[in-house]
Amino acid sequence: MIEIIFYGAEWCSDCKKAKQYLNDNNIQFEFVDVDIDKNATNLVETINNGKRIIPTLLINNKSFTNPDNNALATELGINKVGNVILYGADWCPDCRRAKKYLQDNKINFQFIEVDKHIWATEKVEEINNGKRIIPTILINSQPYTNPDNSILKDVLKIDSNKAQEIFDSIIIGAGPAGLTASIYAQRDRFDTLILEKKNIGGNAALTEKIENYPGFTTISGSGLMTKMAEQAQTYGTKIETGVDVQYISKKDDIFTVKTNMGDYYSKTIVAAVGSTYRLMNIPLEKELIGAGIHFCATCDGAFYRDKEIFVIGGGNSALEESIFLAGFCKKVTIIHRKDTFSASETYIEKLKTINNITILKDKESLEFLKHDNDTLKGILIKDNKTHKVEEVYADGAFIFIGLIPNTGSFKNVIDLNERGFILTTGLGETNVSGLFAAGDCREGAIAQVASATGEGVLASYGIRNHLK
Ligand code: NDP
Repeated sequence: MIEIIFYGAEWCSDCKKAKQYLNDNNIQFEFVDVDIDKNATNLVETINNGKRIIPTLLINNKSFTNPDNNALATELGINKVGNVILYGADWCPDCRRAKKYLQDNKINFQFIEVDKHIWATEKVEEINNGKRIIPTILINSQPYTNPDNSILKDVLKIDSNKAQEIFDSIIIGAGPAGLTASIYAQRDRFDTLILEKKNIGGNAALTEKIENYPGFTTISGSGLMTKMAEQAQTYGTKIETGVDVQYISKKDDIFTVKTNMGDYYSKTIVAAVGSTYRLMNIPLEKELIGAGIHFCATCDGAFYRDKEIFVIGGGNSALEESIFLAGFCKKVTIIHRKDTFSASETYIEKLKTINNITILKDKESLEFLKHDNDTLKGILIKDNKTHKVEEVYADGAFIFIGLIPNTGSFKNVIDLNERGFILTTGLGETNVSGLFAAGDCREGAIAQVASATGEGVLASYGIRNHLK
């Protein structure tokens, strides 16, 4: 829903032009005739510093004085294939990804921040059967829930045919390992392209605070990753986001990278694809994702300001994120299946100093519970010692139970271990010559930003040796 109040008059030619444009694009608006409504005249004068200029439009409470059709198109997301409205938030990584893709392809769109308008959140829930999933994009009134770039490309008829450039290296993944590999490779004068499925920065960009990356006593994950990406781009690295790599093949020393956005070609490849949140695989978990169940505190924590939440897990991630969430949630209850945490002592000690964190240890989560409107109600848990089963309730649940490597597109391409991590030797070399791996997707990686950047350096030396 876009709220447009149009202050004008029947005799005004600019008003007629603007009305015609809105009507031609099926944009609903409320017309207020300033000759009839004296309050409207006063309002127009207030907006325009005492001047009586029409048309004056209020679009979602933002005023526009005699806007031309281009200004209306930009604000209302009208372009040659129609009307695009993106409901999202600046803190949401997929919203940033979709916005960037639309901007890169010069598609006008209207961005409505769900945090700023209650009606916008309600609209998103209405479209998604009660679930609060963003970005939700309306293209000519047809809803698309978190569409990937290939869907946007098809629906908006974006022509992104690329010349068949052969890069010195294609780096898959724009996390710390991939960005560092590209910085080093570009400085060695190798032409590199980073393909990233989601957002620049990988999991590190979703971490609220990083306090163990040398050189920074404390820095936000997104801040650190933005700096790394800027540094890479300074040296000429190209980064494309929203590109989902499906398969890699090699012929005559050239790799073909098959993606949702077409084929890319390169002399070397670095797999820096990182890892993904593990699921608990209990009833209702998948169904309630986005409707009370989340995996990223930085992305979704803000929905639970002053509310009660569960955190599931007992490792470093669970404890670190609980401490972060306790900063603005009313109550955080950690549910862990063992009676000891595997997290580091620093986090365990810090937990004891925070009085809105409660710990339920030795509790197995059996299933999630939902309200009639299909949102999370709570969890059915079992005490491992007494076997007592009980229902516990909260507004949201964050699951932090470990990671699985994002190496699906490398199956049957290179050797992986039984858990899917990439097997490497020396400078991150895989069993395929010219294909390297760096960061959390590699067997033996220790899932730290600092170590991932080091692995990126090693891979860049691999690229250098291979190309020379
Ligand atoms: P971990 O593998 O370290 O911990 C996973 C936790 O989830 C364990 O407590 C595990 O319990 C529990 N768990 C696993 N499966 C289930 C399940 N099905 N149901 C319920 N609980 C389950 O993962 P993390 O994501 O915490 O950390 C990943 C890596 O990143 C680690 O190496 C960690 O040290 C590192 N890290 C480092 C940080 C830092 O140094 N600042 C911050 C965050 C992460 P159980 O013990 O019973 O298996």
